[in-house]
Amino acid sequence: MNIQNYYNGQNPLKQILFKTIQDELQVSPFETAILPAYSKVMEFAQGIIEQLENSGQTPPISCKAGCSYCCHSQVKIIPIEALSIHTHITNTFNDLEVSDLKKRISSFQLLSKGKTFEQRFSMKEKLPCIFLMSGKCSIYKSRPSICRSWNSLDHLDCKIAYNSEDSQTEIQSSPARNYVYGSARELFELIARQLSLQTQISHMHKAITDCFNATDPLKQWCLGTEIFNL
Ligand code: SF4
Repeated sequence: MNIQNYYNGQNPLKQILFKTIQDELQVSPFETAILPAYSKVMEFAQGIIEQLENSGQTPPISCKAGCSYCCHSQVKIIPIEALSIHTHITNTFNDLEVSDLKKRISSFQLLSKGKTFEQRFSMKEKLPCIFLMSGKCSIYKSRPSICRSWNSLDHLDCKIAYNSEDSQTEIQSSPARNYVYGSARELFELIARQLSLQTQISHMHKAITDCFNATDPLKQWCLGTEIFNL
């Protein structure tokens, strides 16, 4: 495995993010290294965002706990994000919580099956994210990069968009989170591609189901087994 060349592109932020985990990725076996490295990059990215936002270098964000309009959007994730969430579930959910989650996934699949994006948008009240519980994210520490990126400068815009029938309603947002968390996600896509591991983006409910259906999904993915979207 040549890990020196995981990242050899021009994006300076991706280079910085890669440097933070270069040593961790040397740990063998790879399956024990990749999730801690992923968590480290996410924490580092969060630190950058906090510095930018707390110092006023980016506009103030209106997002706050309890606001979940955007958690009725269609979330797509990459394999490392699915595996991080699955590990979080395995480590923190009890049997009843796992059973309830599987029921929500089944319901989501039943309601969304065969529907176009527009049709799913029009029934978003019935299709909250499978991890939204009482208005809060039940996997907050492991939420995927798209959820970390998403932000709004005015939560009233989100309310209007949520109540609108127009799926293209514009929400003004700060680009910093998109750039930072998007770079983190792209770095892990590059690493996976370099190692010939699955990289494709999947709907979150589908990717989590794929993890539940696999035996030791993290190990299998690290070995190059195709466990997603079979
Ligand atoms: S994972 Fe969490 S933050 Fe992301 S859409 Fe679902 S509930 Fe919301």
